[in-house]
Amino acid sequence: MSAIERTDVLVVGLGPAGSRVAATAASAGRRVVALDRRREPGVPVQCAEFIPALLDQEIEGLGAVTRQRVREMMTFVEDEAPDIKPDFPGRMIDRAKFDAALAARAAEAGAECRFGAAVEAVDPDGTVRLSDGSGLRGEVLIGADGPRSRVGRALGRINEHVVETRQITVPLYAPNEQTDIFLSADIPGGYGWLFPKGEVANLGVGVAPEAKHRLKPILDDLHENLAVRDRVGRRVFGHTGGPIPVGGMLDPIGRLDETPVLLAGDAAGLANPVTGAGISAAVIAGGAAGEAAAAHLSGDAEALPDYAEELTELFKPALDRALARRRELLARYREDQAPTPENLRRGWIAYPEYWAA
Ligand SMILES: Cc1cc2nc3c(=O)[nH]c(=O)nc-3n(C[C@H](O)[C@H](O)[C@H](O)COP(=O)(O)OP(=O)(O)OC[C@H]3O[C@@H](n4cnc5c(N)ncnc54)[C@H](O)[C@@H]3O)c2cc1C
Repeated sequence: MSAIERTDVLVVGLGPAGSRVAATAASAGRRVVALDRRREPGVPVQCAEFIPALLDQEIEGLGAVTRQRVREMMTFVEDEAPDIKPDFPGRMIDRAKFDAALAARAAEAGAECRFGAAVEAVDPDGTVRLSDGSGLRGEVLIGADGPRSRVGRALGRINEHVVETRQITVPLYAPNEQTDIFLSADIPGGYGWLFPKGEVANLGVGVAPEAKHRLKPILDDLHENLAVRDRVGRRVFGHTGGPIPVGGMLDPIGRLDETPVLLAGDAAGLANPVTGAGISAAVIAGGAAGEAAAAHLSGDAEALPDYAEELTELFKPALDRALARRRELLARYREDQAPTPENLRRGWIAYPEYWAA
């Protein structure tokens, strides 16, 4: 067997979380190798491409990856007239360019970013095995490898609950600056979305896994409904989809034999169980994980527990609330009572009921 390549920080995954880990740890002077099975950063895009304005404080130069601004959210509950949430600012991005820009910054900071490097296995001692049979080991290992993280699995931290999604890109007839959300008892465990990108839009649906077989008909219905109202065209420019973790936060630190391990982003279950949004949490957690890895290597014995504490403080309250709301809605289906419009409102972030005790 070939010799094991060694580095200070080994990052699996070069999505938003992994690229931020790599950039931060490399900026702190650490040797970083980061691996991603994708040949090109962010491709294929598996995302509705909305980021909240909050990310402007974390990442410079977002203008270069922005397709358009968003100002408000419009929520459609069943067939009722929509409710407008006026203050919901953010950006629609080109997600492939966004991921590529973050990976480029990691490389500029000195991280060695390798694309086309698929991790096949993570050994019990933290050695990472690639599909070509080679092995790598970091003084610290980072799992930033998304919802079905292999690093997380090796630690026994698994996203047990996911939402399955399907999305198409369609012509948008009246360009606008709002994200449209469609809530219905017919979309169990999820919702529909129409997010604008100038003259096209991402139209998608997410559902609980038990309803996965209904994704296509639900999305076709939504598409047809919007097409007959002349909001979108019938042409489909592209398809995507993928799982979103919705089970809430996992313990983000652990050990494989002597190797300390940190999880970040979807691998740590940081996507919101109601909205499915996970980009900003991935970016923030990635930065914190990179700092923690560097601090650990400089002898800070508390760096890892501090990382876990930071994530808990930053994300757990919001994730727990979303989880509770999600469970309330799912319980209705189990009791054979489809959620009412009131139930759906209590389960969605645009309504005061969601934030009530
Ligand atoms: C359809 C859809 C729509 C979404 N829309 C939004 C949205 O509008 N806004 C939002 O904030 N969030 C959205 N999300 C969620 C968001 O995409 C994720 O939360 C975010 O990408 C998490 O970033 P990450 O870096 O943790 O993981 P990822 O972006 O998944 O990156 C993980 C990386 O690890 C790599 N990888 C995985 N396994 C291996 C392996 N074995 N070997 C090597 N590399 C590996 C992958 O190739 C990938 O590049 C959406 C998700 C889906 C599926």
